[in-house]
Amino acid sequence: MPIFEYKCNQCKKEFEKLVFAGEENKISCPECKSLEVVKKMSATSFMGTGMGKCATSSPKGFS
Ligand SMILES: [Zn+2]
Repeated sequence: MPIFEYKCNQCKKEFEKLVFAGEENKISCPECKSLEVVKKMSATSFMGTGMGKCATSSPKGFS
């Protein structure tokens, strides 16, 4: 799920928000309702895949 970190330029509050496609420009601060928020790239939403998929070797057939 695309969870992004935002920071409000008005009250400096940082918050995370689940953003669906097409809603990127409609993010408002939960504190002061300001639309002057900047998105921070959150690596945690995109990591977690690609790990643990290297176990392709099988011990069968070597007896
Ligand atoms: Zn704010």
